Amino acid sequence: MNLILLGPPGAGKGTQAKMMVEEFCIPQISTGDILRAEVTSSSELGRKAKAYMDAGDLVPDDLILKMVKSRLAQKDCAEGFILDGFPRTIPQAEGLKSLLSELSKKLDGVVSIEVEDEELVKRLTSRWISKSTGKIYNMLFDPPPRDLIDSGDVYQRDDDKEATVRNRLQVYKKKTEPLINYYKRSGLLLSIPGSGEPGEVFACLKKTLYDKGL
Ligand code: AMP
Repeated sequence: MNLILLGPPGAGKGTQAKMMVEEFCIPQISTGDILRAEVTSSSELGRKAKAYMDAGDLVPDDLILKMVKSRLAQKDCAEGFILDGFPRTIPQAEGLKSLLSELSKKLDGVVSIEVEDEELVKRLTSRWISKSTGKIYNMLFDPPPRDLIDSGDVYQRDDDKEATVRNRLQVYKKKTEPLINYYKRSGLLLSIPGSGEPGEVFACLKKTLYDKGL
């Protein structure tokens, strides 16, 4: 099953993708995660991408497409994959189309997770991460233990700070939202309400895929 997870930042794509990996045994390909690993290792790609990411802007399409091409060609994608955070522009979607045809693969569906803007800002600005374990906490409903806050172990991603979050949402509306109609036209779009608990959203997602025969 070859899927795209589409949705604004903070819609819960990462959380849903992880549940899908467990359920369907296919890998999650998160361009955001790959880029963060490149930034951490200070690779050439990481050095090029960092300034865009810190500002909440998109990394140029050519860099992203090159990165996705090498990832999709790996063996673990043979039975399927979940693209999380890619494509984010029409040129990336066009690039993906050619890439998949080169690899003799095709898309089965595009799951679009829908959440209101103010809910997204609230969710994203309350996301904190533990340096030592990588665990993601939420200051509103799953706060980190006091000792992790006091020791400075938990931190907020630069791109989760409010001004940057608002810029990321603007960028999403301008560059990524047009993909909803793009995939609707090709009959691949599957819309899911994303405002509930992760388990509820996942139940709806599974049912939608099942009803589509996937
Ligand atoms: P994410 O974790 O998916 O929200 O991605 C974090 C940041 O990485 C984004 O704000 C962009 O700067 C960059 N990024 C991730 N995926 C893409 C993509 N497909 N195209 C361009 N930039 C991306």
